[in-house]
Amino acid sequence: MAGVYIHIPFCKRACAYCDFHFSTNLKHKNALVTAIIKELDLRHTYLSDKNIDSIYFGGGTPSLLSVNELESIFERLSSYFSWNKSTEITLEANPDDITEEALSDWKKTGINRLSIGLQSFNDEELTWFNRAHTAKQSLASVSMAQDKGFDNITIDLIYGSKFQTLSSWEKTLQQAIDLNTQHISAYNLTIENKTALGVNYAKGKEPAVNEDLSSRQFLMLIQHLQRAEFVQYEISNFGKPNFFAKHNSNYWLQKNYLGLGASAHSFNGVSRQWNVKNNALYIKALNHNSTFFEREELLLQDRYNEYVLTRLRTIWGCDVKEIEKLFGKNLRDYFEKKAVNKQHDIKEYKGIFTLTELGKLRADGIAADLFI
Ligand code: SF4
Repeated sequence: MAGVYIHIPFCKRACAYCDFHFSTNLKHKNALVTAIIKELDLRHTYLSDKNIDSIYFGGGTPSLLSVNELESIFERLSSYFSWNKSTEITLEANPDDITEEALSDWKKTGINRLSIGLQSFNDEELTWFNRAHTAKQSLASVSMAQDKGFDNITIDLIYGSKFQTLSSWEKTLQQAIDLNTQHISAYNLTIENKTALGVNYAKGKEPAVNEDLSSRQFLMLIQHLQRAEFVQYEISNFGKPNFFAKHNSNYWLQKNYLGLGASAHSFNGVSRQWNVKNNALYIKALNHNSTFFEREELLLQDRYNEYVLTRLRTIWGCDVKEIEKLFGKNLRDYFEKKAVNKQHDIKEYKGIFTLTELGKLRADGIAADLFI
């Protein structure tokens, strides 16, 4: 089944490490929601399947939307698509936006999964990240959501910062496990050029990420979460059984999705397209019926490379029978010949190739070695 992604490109403040598309100027929030609805009117036929199994509000910070704005998007979605109780409807929310009232409103709209951006339980680190919440708010936001009946919650964590030692990371993991959520995503801090962190790093004011330490933190993450009965179904994503994210899994399993909003990407199996990464231009283009996206037709080679890149990161792995079915015998032979030479990084069981623990430390490099 297919999914719909809605990008809400507004944030209260810019986190020091973040290179997603967002604006801290909320003046055009209403106009942007109107433009998203217009895009939906124009592009709902992009998905041939009218039954969807995932709706995902990502950002940016979708928890900044008012309940009226959310309802207007849902209302228009329901005129084009069908979903039911098992459809995963996720809202990314920051702890500082989570209140009793907001949770009740979100429940009423049908949102049944929250992705809460905790990032850390250390106030000093949260300040360094320029997050808008405290550790106390992080902890309180999860229990408030649970008390309101949200029983599908994921939290985000970051490791590899200069504040994390092995023992502080171990403590963070235990705190995360104790929150009793159904899913945890944990990302290695990366220093991106145009972020505040990247600028300070270039000026020599911030140290590089200690790769050796963050590798050890990654291995600790796997061990601790596995012990707590989370399944690592993708390199950075851990879910309790039956709680793997449908939205993300659809992406990794090459299912179709319609992306709405400035900077959102869409995929329909044969082409990929992406909307302009600028709120004002996006709104203007939708208001004037002019072009607001670029499109790329995917060649066989592109589709094979994407398959390898995304599947190798997952528990489902690269299946040689599927490679043959999708891309032909020559590419199956090519893949197998290359993959069997990577015994330390890739393991094989019944024709399905997945990464070893060691391989997970450098997944993208290994995938690139298997590209054509
Ligand atoms: S990390 Fe999230 S809240 Fe922070 S700037 Fe990026 S999108 Fe906004």
